[in-house]
Amino acid sequence: MRQIQDIKAIDFSKEDGLVPAIIQDNNTGKVLMLGYMNEAALEQTLDSGKVTFFSRSKQRLWTKGETSENFLNLVSISPDCDQDALLVKVNPEGPTCHLGDDTCWEESNENNLQFLGHLTEVIKERRQKSPEESYVARLFSKGINKVAQKVGEEAVEVVIEAKDSDDNLFLNESADLLFHYMMLLEAKGFTLNDVISVLKERHK
Ligand code: AMP
Ligand code: ZN
Ligand code: ZN
Ligand code: ZN
Repeated sequence: MRQIQDIKAIDFSKEDGLVPAIIQDNNTGKVLMLGYMNEAALEQTLDSGKVTFFSRSKQRLWTKGETSENFLNLVSISPDCDQDALLVKVNPEGPTCHLGDDTCWEESNENNLQFLGHLTEVIKERRQKSPEESYVARLFSKGINKVAQKVGEEAVEVVIEAKDSDDNLFLNESADLLFHYMMLLEAKGFTLNDVISVLKERHK
């Protein structure tokens, strides 16, 4: 990805010195919000590591989170092909939308693969619950070997259903396998992203 090397390379000549900045969650890939930056806003964003816009309604620099503390912590900024728009990847500290949602758009902007990122978070969160209130917590409490064994069992069930002609059963066992595999990754301190990195590395 093109990174901002030189702030002077950005074309602030259009739209009254403002460029649109698309804010994307670095982990989930979700588009969180859209804001505008002038040169000073971009400079402050790079200096502070907190995304700062030029607010068209306030007519001043606006650091997202300045009152709500829902800051957008900068990961990377890249210009588009002709340097007049920015893609800003962030780690959000809280809900980004002032209406309390993660994103300023409906959850429908989450694609199927992004949903797996969401599920990763759910598994992490359920792990902290008590074994009485959560199946996931219960299985984790039995230890890594039990989780791994469950993955093995679900894999065998997938194999069995693959030979059968019931698509519904095959898909359900596949979902069981993927879910328990994601639990195993979590138990080992990894996520699907780590596995995808290995696949990408091989693909080079
Ligand atoms: P904050 O920067 O989160 O402290 O919010 C300060 C004010 O900025 C809010 O009261 C809203 O008026 C506005 N605001 C915050 N977040 C957004 C957003 N995602 N989109 C549009 N306006 C926002
Ligand atoms: Zn452009
Ligand atoms: Zn919003
Ligand atoms: Zn199963």
